[in-house]
Amino acid sequence: MSTAKEVEATLPVVRVSARGAGRLKSGHAWVYRSDVLPPDSIAPGALVSVRDPKGRALGTALYSNASQIAIRLLSPNAVPDFTALLRQRIRQAISYRQLVVKNSDACRLVFSEADWLPGLIVDRYNDILSLQVLTQGMDSEAARLALIPELMELVKPASIVERVEARIRELEQLPPRSSGLVAGNKTSTVYAMNGVQFHYSAMGGQKTGAFLDQRENYAAAAEYAHGGALDVFCYQGGFALHLANRCPQVTGVDSSRPALEVAEQNAALNNTEIEWIEGNAFDLLKDYATAGRLYDTIVLDPPAFAQSKQTLDTALRGYKELNLRALKMLRDGGILITCSCSYHVSLATFVEMFSSAAVDVHRNVRIIETRGQAKDHPVLPNIPETSYLKAVIARVSY
Ligand code: SAH
Repeated sequence: MSTAKEVEATLPVVRVSARGAGRLKSGHAWVYRSDVLPPDSIAPGALVSVRDPKGRALGTALYSNASQIAIRLLSPNAVPDFTALLRQRIRQAISYRQLVVKNSDACRLVFSEADWLPGLIVDRYNDILSLQVLTQGMDSEAARLALIPELMELVKPASIVERVEARIRELEQLPPRSSGLVAGNKTSTVYAMNGVQFHYSAMGGQKTGAFLDQRENYAAAAEYAHGGALDVFCYQGGFALHLANRCPQVTGVDSSRPALEVAEQNAALNNTEIEWIEGNAFDLLKDYATAGRLYDTIVLDPPAFAQSKQTLDTALRGYKELNLRALKMLRDGGILITCSCSYHVSLATFVEMFSSAAVDVHRNVRIIETRGQAKDHPVLPNIPETSYLKAVIARVSY
């Protein structure tokens, strides 16, 4: 068997600038193309040895010739056996979830860079695994042949489904591929979080099917929820169904009809009645606020408004408009659960926006909890991009 050093010597070498090297040395996994010194032609998705400008080894990475993120570090060391490393990382990812996931048979098993498996997402929905491949490196035959059998062996799901986002494959210059089963043949199931049940259809819905990152926030929201509740941007009813355990009246609002159809089925599955409204949340909140409607609990969980730093100001205006209206529509003692999944909006900026909205509408707000994404979406201190979801739970008084 070859030693790690011998294997490394066979890998193509990519040299990075001093800035790129500094980034990797600080524990980050990415080097942008602008920090890569022009390499000889390197195969898309290749395993490469990364070197600093003086030729010193910085570790082993997956290379992309299409993405702005040219280098995604796999290990700061030499990697003697790529397949063995991927399998080990899957085992570590799963054992971490065994530690942190409680009261749920659905969770994110693998979260890309946050599990040092850059470009791979695996979500578990009870007995079905949903897999997403986001990079050239993880799309290789070698990677797939390591990952899929390891997942089958460890989790023993009824099936594994691959969800393909055509736009991501285009950006990565990967050949088109269709979504479908990669193991087993089951495509729908029922999963449960915090005792609430949900239908799962492997080929439908947004993301890999649901917003698992809010799992712990659903339970936290339900702790304080009471009275009449409004779940704005409700998707398939994640918050609404949890609130229904505490609130006599719950309304969910979303612009996606397919999402609301599943939400309706989910309500039936849990023997509860919820009013679902298809519409634009901005228009509906405006109309309801003008009409003087009042609630005791409101959830705001919009899509990411800030997709980049450049759109931050517009995004903050969007968040503020929603929060202003929701604050106006809460009764004295009401509970607001307000979220942002934009990485570019920091927690401090989000709280500042919220505070200024409260001042504008003359409400006192006490922040009960400041929360993030569920623990199965790990946050790595050296990779700030792994932390993106913010949820503030506040009590509003007049
Ligand atoms: N709260 C949900 C996740 C919300 S994701 C959960 O926990 O599962 C954001 C949702 O906003 C999506 O379902 C999307 O369909 C919806 N959406 C996007 N723009 C909208 C708009 N302008 N009005 C209403 N819903 C919108």
